[in-house]
Amino acid sequence: MSTTAPTPLDVHLEHRFADALPELAMAWQAEDVPAATLLTLNEEHALELGLDPAHLRSPAGLGLLTGTVVPAGATPVAQAYAGHQFGGWSPRLGDGRALLLGELALPDGRMRDLHLKGSGRTPFARGGDGLAAVGPMLREHVVSEALHHLGIPTTRALAVVATGREVRRETLLPGALLARTAASHLRVGSFQYARSLGDPALLRRLADQAIDRHHPDARTAERPYLALLEAVTAAQAALVAQWMLVGFVHGVLNTDNVTISGETIDYGPCAFLDAYDPATSFSSIDEGGRYAYGQQPTVTLWNLARLAEALLPLIDDDEEQAVALATASLEGYSATYTARLDAGMRRKLGLPEGLADDVANALAADLLALMRETGVDHTSFWRRLSAAARGDAEPARAMVLDLAAFDAWCERWRAVDPDPAVMDRHNPVYVPRNHLVEEALTAATGGDLGPVRTLIDVLAAPYDERPGLERFAQPDPDGGAGFRTFCGT
Ligand code: AMP
Ligand code: MG
Repeated sequence: MSTTAPTPLDVHLEHRFADALPELAMAWQAEDVPAATLLTLNEEHALELGLDPAHLRSPAGLGLLTGTVVPAGATPVAQAYAGHQFGGWSPRLGDGRALLLGELALPDGRMRDLHLKGSGRTPFARGGDGLAAVGPMLREHVVSEALHHLGIPTTRALAVVATGREVRRETLLPGALLARTAASHLRVGSFQYARSLGDPALLRRLADQAIDRHHPDARTAERPYLALLEAVTAAQAALVAQWMLVGFVHGVLNTDNVTISGETIDYGPCAFLDAYDPATSFSSIDEGGRYAYGQQPTVTLWNLARLAEALLPLIDDDEEQAVALATASLEGYSATYTARLDAGMRRKLGLPEGLADDVANALAADLLALMRETGVDHTSFWRRLSAAARGDAEPARAMVLDLAAFDAWCERWRAVDPDPAVMDRHNPVYVPRNHLVEEALTAATGGDLGPVRTLIDVLAAPYDERPGLERFAQPDPDGGAGFRTFCGT
């Protein structure tokens, strides 16, 4: 496509990150794409961004979505960051195969990063080839959009474009790029990197960017950088609570995959729970279960502690005082997390507003114990409870082993008059079930995009049960035991 390069799309991309933080931004270009083919386009999101879907489908649009024909004045950069990966410190990670094309100013005034993944090697690529395969990029599209429609903050998928280039993994796979947007790509690892450079002015500039972009109330706080830490802590606590409520397992919660904005980012070996068990870990590279479902609240606090360490020089000149203040602020995490989780559990159980906390908490805890004992399918069990609130307990009852315990629990629960309509709005019918995602990605890798597109459509309205979609609501007929996800990168 480089021989007859089309005129770039008329899109204005800002370069505020590149301008404000040159130490973290390496100007770079996307690799050429032999034969770009649009596999998915998120038209709804394009319109939110003020982009015309028809333009994005044109040769100039594909130029933008592959980074090969960028708008005049744009400054694509690879971002530098560091991170703790599975607890081990990596001083220099950065975008090895990704580029920030720039920031889009939305019609409503917000800013969103436009970012590519799979756009070729950068100086941060280390041993990697800089590329991505069709399957993992479509996987990010499917799962990130599912989270969005479940009401969970996340980066958004704009498009997946096949490159026509083969990518060598265990086998040769068709290559692709993902174009995604984010509130920003500032990560805990961005702060760790800035701190590691030992330049307090840079760290302050980075923190100021984060405040301006995500947590503007911190600006007027008595201690703005402590307030930033508090705001990120609250946003992350709320995010993890939402993951826990729907049974989402991120899979690789390294500090470079934890945003300052509170959006879910970097969909690698992520998956949804089938059988309810807090020890569930799907990722083939997470042998110790560090990032298992039930570990996510704890490990997120650990990640926030790394952010706090990075921010110390901005919090107070006296290190002891800075540590005391940061520690006190991290203590807010568990209260926020618990409050968010408990409020969500109340909605999942349809509990009335005024119900006492101890009653509500005991109902939730006892139900989870029953679910765990049987290893019930998380999504369908919760949804079937609505029928129990409407008077038909049998569908849920049929899923548990200890019928007497379930009946006793049900009697206590129904005595508080749960509202099934509230439950239906908070217990999804459709989540990206592992077997459905695998089936759709396998078809797409073989050239058939039908199943992926259907899955994306189904997951766009996860709470609305629709006739004909029964198989999307059901657990894996083969049981799904031992399902593994691979970074697939
Ligand atoms: P991730 O596991 O996707 O969060 O990536 C961790 C780090 O590895 C980041 O610095 C990525 O940019 C880099 N990386 C992952 N895959 C590749 C690849 N195929 N080529 C170059 N860098 C990569
Ligand atoms: Mg990452």
